Amino acid sequence: MEKNIEHIKSEALSELEGASDPEAIKAISVRYLGRKGIVTQFLRNISSLPAAERPFAGKRANEVKKELDAAVKGILEKLASEAQRPGDRIDVSLPGRVPARGSLHPLTQITREICAIFTRMGFNIAEGPEVESDYYNFEALNIPKNHPARDMQDTFYVSDNIVLRTQTSPMQIRVMETQPPPVRIIAPGKVYRCDSDLTHTPMFSQVEGLLVDENVSFGDLKGTLTAFVHQMFDTKTALRFRPSFFPFTEPSAEVDILCVMCRGKGCRICSQTGWLEGLGSGMVHPAVFENVGYDTRRYTGFAFGMGVERIAMLKYGIDDLRKFFDNDFRFLRQF
Ligand SMILES: [Zn+2]
Repeated sequence: MEKNIEHIKSEALSELEGASDPEAIKAISVRYLGRKGIVTQFLRNISSLPAAERPFAGKRANEVKKELDAAVKGILEKLASEAQRPGDRIDVSLPGRVPARGSLHPLTQITREICAIFTRMGFNIAEGPEVESDYYNFEALNIPKNHPARDMQDTFYVSDNIVLRTQTSPMQIRVMETQPPPVRIIAPGKVYRCDSDLTHTPMFSQVEGLLVDENVSFGDLKGTLTAFVHQMFDTKTALRFRPSFFPFTEPSAEVDILCVMCRGKGCRICSQTGWLEGLGSGMVHPAVFENVGYDTRRYTGFAFGMGVERIAMLKYGIDDLRKFFDNDFRFLRQF
């Protein structure tokens, strides 16, 4: 008899242990301790036991009843307090968690800004291969093999006649080969030169421009580049055209812009000159037109090119070109 009540107790406890919600606990409680419950029935049947066993069995059964009752209350309280823990509730008043967002690399931003300024002036964007033939990268641009001008650019050769383009100028030839004048394009993209120091990286970005039509003069070139610089920086940024040499333009000019740091007074950035080198430019060499079959008596044109990193450094006042390629978030997040 004693064994029986202990058996009932251990069964009830193991059932309680397996239950995880208040409803299940209450159901178990009713089944054992309710009016028709197992423990209640046991107590009622004590009168049918032999007289000698009755006192002990009754005492023990009442104890078990109290123990199970306490166990049920304990578990229910524990479940209730768990449900109230802040971690288990949704607090709708908390500020939302914003996922980390990416942003455009400063060079992408500057490239897009340059392209936007020129497309507003009616230029189309032309893009092409970064692995280029020697013909498009050099020969068609009036730089034949063994020409000393090739020394100006340290070239990565893939094979004798294939190079990583050293400039985006090959796009000028590719576009002119496929359409008659008028031509008005800019060519943004990556270019490669075998060079690496504080102001040079083996890969950098260029935007080149080409305009070909009847009666195009050097005045048009000056006007176009002045409009560009005034939009890229501000209208107080003066330009200076300095005679220079490029094989594919004649005459050629380097375009200096008034130092954006000191406004011409002279500082460390401009080496006390008040001016910064900005772009290369010139009137398209007739030999280039002949290579694509344009009538050199009827058409003239101008071309220009700039390093995107250079423009970004001037615009943001950055003195180390390599920062653009380190991918240091502390640097990139500032733009
Ligand atoms: Zn300066």
